[in-house]
Formats: sequence, C-alpha cells, structure tokens
Amino acid sequence: MLALRQGRSLSDLFRSLQGAARRALMLDYDGTLAPFHVDPAQAEPYPGVREALTALLAAGHTRVVLVTGRAVRDLLPLLRLDPLPEVWGSHGWEEPAPAAGVALSEPAPEGRAALADAAALAPELEARGARLELKPSGLAVHWRGLPPERSAAIREWLEARWTALDLGRGLDWRDFDGGVELRLPGRDKGHVVERLLGEMGPGTVAAYLGDDLTDEDAFRAIRGRGTGILVRREFRPTAADFLLQPPEEVLAFLARWDLAAGGAGAAGHSSTGPEGAWSPPASLRDSGPGAAGATGPGRR
Ligand SMILES: [Mg+2]
Repeated sequence: MLALRQGRSLSDLFRSLQGAARRALMLDYDGTLAPFHVDPAQAEPYPGVREALTALLAAGHTRVVLVTGRAVRDLLPLLRLDPLPEVWGSHGWEEPAPAAGVALSEPAPEGRAALADAAALAPELEARGARLELKPSGLAVHWRGLPPERSAAIREWLEARWTALDLGRGLDWRDFDGGVELRLPGRDKGHVVERLLGEMGPGTVAAYLGDDLTDEDAFRAIRGRGTGILVRREFRPTAADFLLQPPEEVLAFLARWDLAAGGAGAAGHSSTGPEGAWSPPASLRDSGPGAAGATGPGRR
C-alpha cells in the first residue's frame, strides 16, 4: 500500500467508516477485481472477490457499485453474484433502472452517426488482428497480447481513419491499458461518481477503486469528497490518493472496509491489510492530478 498524498492514511478512512451516515464503495472491474484476459469474456474475478462482495452486500451497510467501461450485459455473466451489486456500465451510459434493469442514455445524433461509422471499421480492424468490443457507448479496440509492431500498426491505421472519417465530430478517442476506445462524449466514470455522491449527499464516506486511465475521471471527481485508490502493481501518475496492489491488498481493503463498517467479514480473509504511509519523491508528486487523462488524437 502506498499513500500518494501527504497526510492521508487508510486508517483514517476506516475510522471514518465507523460512524458514517452513509457509505459508498465504487469499484471498477477489469484490472481491479479481475485480472486481464486476452479474451475479455474469460476475465473471471480474482479468487476471493466474489466472497468479499457477497459479504459486503449481505451486511447492507454500504452501497456497493460496480462502475465499468463494459456493457452491463457483458459483465453480469462474469460476476455470478446473488444478489447482484448495482452496476453502471459503458462508462456511465448505462445506469441501473428498477423496471428495465438497465437504462441507456440517448446520445446526440452526431455521436450515433460517428459510432456507426466506427463500427463499420470492424472487419478491417479484425483482419489486422484487433479484438473488438462493440458497446452502446462506443467501440473498444483491444490489442492486448499482440506483438508491439502489430498493435502499433493497428493504432496507426485507426488514427488515419479517425482523421479521414472525422470521427472526432461525435466521438472521443480514449486510450486504455491494451487498446483504445472510440467513445461517445458526455459520460465517463467521473460522471457516475458525481451522480452517486450527489444522490447520497453530505456525510457519505466514499471510495473509488480503479486501475486504468479511464478511472482517472473518477479519481478527479471524488477528490476532496472521498478516497481514490489506484489498483496497480506499479506507480503511475494519478489523481488517486492511494496505490493498492491487486489482488491481495484489494481483498484486504474490502475485508477491512466491511469490518470497519460493522459487517462480519468474509470467512477466510485477513482483516488486517498492509498499512503505512509512503511519500513519493517530488518528481512523482509533481505529475499531479489530470496527468493521466485522455490522450491521442481525441485530445485535439
Ligand atoms: Mg479497469
């Protein structure tokens, strides 16, 4: 565990949970609760994650929310939880709806048209070796596992199409770990954090855990109102407050949260996570919030 901001400690967070009026735990899925898999449909949770989430949901002391870039329909079969936690999918374009299960926000017409143009690139992208994920909110182009020269060639080809087709008229270019997503603008994980914290009001103790560049929006949104936790083996510039290594430190965090909030804990998990404070060198601190946001041609 690394504390990335001076004066922040996880012990303080756990102490604040004890008397909190409301608690919210927001969790990304891929790379945070599950290891990456070349085939996203095979990305099962880390051992122990289902038990930890089940314990949190059963205790009822915390609003547990999964915030994913995946379409909700692609995530539920991997979770296999009963009851299911609340899931916000497609970077906030899909939100929980009591009757329908999931409500999809309607994009602007130029976004929908650009998304159709991007989707039409699918055969050529697949022919180049990319793995595609077509979502209600965008087209994710995965090149994880390909040799660097092939992923670079896919990226270059896609950048050329992006310009030629003027896809930026309706989509954002968003890099992620292992690919790029051409995504409808106007929603991101930060938007979900804003919505949830707005709904729950002051007095809510909240944390957001995520691993990817797309989680930086959530880290920025939660700053000053909760705790951002980057889940990753190595440090990178981030707006998060802490760095936890998956899966051990994440599991320990979930267990400690449950106990601090008054739950009974999931059997078989340590209740004491690694604790301590570490100050990064000035060169890392200076990277500052926002350094790891969107990159690529969509930044124009
Ligand atoms: Mg992730």
